[in-house]
Formats: sequence, C-alpha cells, structure tokens
Amino acid sequence: MEDRDTPPGFGPAGSVFTGNAMTIFEKIIAREIPGDIEHEDDRCIAFHDIQPQAPIHVLIVPKKVIPRVGEATAEDEAVLGHLLLVAGQVASQLGVNSTDKGFRLVINNGSNGGEAVPHLHVHLLAGRSLQWPPG
Ligand code: AMP
Repeated sequence: MEDRDTPPGFGPAGSVFTGNAMTIFEKIIAREIPGDIEHEDDRCIAFHDIQPQAPIHVLIVPKKVIPRVGEATAEDEAVLGHLLLVAGQVASQLGVNSTDKGFRLVINNGSNGGEAVPHLHVHLLAGRSLQWPPG
C-alpha cells in the first residue's frame, strides 16, 4: 500500500491533500504522471486503470484526498454522491449505460477490501459478464 508522509497542504492543479506524500492519483491530477483521462471537472477526475480487470476499467477519483470510505465525513457527502453520478456519465460515454450491457462499481476499503491506493476511488468495470460473489 502507498504511504503518505509529508505535511498537509494544497496540491497543484486543484488537488487538495490532507497530509503526507502525494498519492499516485494526485500525481495524475497534477499531470506529474500521465493518465488516460475520460472525464475531469472541478471535483473529480476519471481515467482508465493501468491494469484493467475488464475491457472497460475506469477509476473515478475525487480531487480532495479522502483516504477511504471509512474515513469520509459528513462534509464529503456531496462529493461522494458526485462520484456516482460521474460514474454513470462515464458509463454512458463508453456505451455501457444500458440494462443489456451494464457495469459494476466497486470501492475497496482497507486490507481485506483489497485497497492498494489510499485515495478513495470508484472502480467502473464493464465490457464483460462479471461474476457474483466477487473473489
Ligand atoms: P485499489 O486496489 O482499489 O486501491 O485500486 C487501485 C487501482 O489503481 C488498481 O486497479 C491499479 O491498477 C490502479 N493504478 C495504479 N497506478 C495507476 C496509474 N498510474 N494509472 C492508472 N491506474 C493505476
């Protein structure tokens, strides 16, 4: 898992971080490293996952660094809702926002949840039939 170990502050390009080193996702927001960006607005960015687990695998990431759902607060309510609306918009852009196609949204939280990057993100997976229960 990534670590965060520098003081709190404001990142470049509108990213806001609550402390410690920039996450890989803040670096994409700041254009320090490349990302295949599908959507960006004042509150979030959506880009294709570098190791896709399905034909379509996009990450929707808030610009505010909320480490994970379990640490979100009431002040994050609007941005959390925004991430889901953007996920639907991105699914439409990519042609999978229909009941015959469809998509899955996943948020991993903590070690057993499979979280690797401590910067909350919604996985949008689509383009194949996904199994349930997940592994
Ligand atoms: P999670 O395990 O939920 O924390 O998901 C982290 C995701 O970030 C994984 O699916 C990784 O493949 C993805 N990822 C890591 N680095 C990059 C990157 N530079 N660009 C795009 N996706 C990335």
